[in-house]
Amino acid sequence: MARYRDSVCKLCRREGEKLFLKGNRCLSTKCSFDRKSYVPGQHGQSRRRRLSNYGLQLREKQKIKRMYGVLEQQFRNYFKKADLMKGETGTNLMQLLERRLDNVVFRLGFAPSHAAARQLVSHRHFLINNKVVNIPSYLVSPGELIQVRDKSRKMDAILDSIRRIKGDLDLSWLEIDKAKMKGTVIAIPDRDQMNIEVNERLVVELYSK
Ligand code: SF4
Repeated sequence: MARYRDSVCKLCRREGEKLFLKGNRCLSTKCSFDRKSYVPGQHGQSRRRRLSNYGLQLREKQKIKRMYGVLEQQFRNYFKKADLMKGETGTNLMQLLERRLDNVVFRLGFAPSHAAARQLVSHRHFLINNKVVNIPSYLVSPGELIQVRDKSRKMDAILDSIRRIKGDLDLSWLEIDKAKMKGTVIAIPDRDQMNIEVNERLVVELYSK
């Protein structure tokens, strides 16, 4: 499976904002963004310029892709699927991305970042309705129960992450039971239940050209 392998901190610098791709490190003083918030590359410090409409659309698309850790072709496939669904394409797109199993594991607080969640899922640490699912792109549905496998309950990566859960995330579409290390999907999230500040309409404009 293709994966982005360069420094993820460069992606934050490229998008001009913190994308929180490295879990706890992003919240610590080790985050390099405040010190080096310019575009990466030799001429990065002199390269901030006003973006055209196309540039704005492209950057928003890249930002969303990077936040969810999906590559170009996969993102296009999500867009095609969203476009065929009833309702607003942009909202459909965001719902598909939010329903990915790796995202749900991250949102439930079982992993510190999307990348860590993807790895934990691939390494078979989670059950859905009591069956192992190791596909990060699996789309969860209302009523499904996601839980940490018994043999994975002592893993530091999962325990540390659960310990750090704060009550400030709006999880009204997910129900979490920290003590039992499980969560249930209550509903497909509405756009305002997604804790992510992006303008998906720019992506719709970009792909509608
Ligand atoms: Fe971005 Fe996190 Fe790296 Fe900071 S530590 S630059 S927020 S990925």
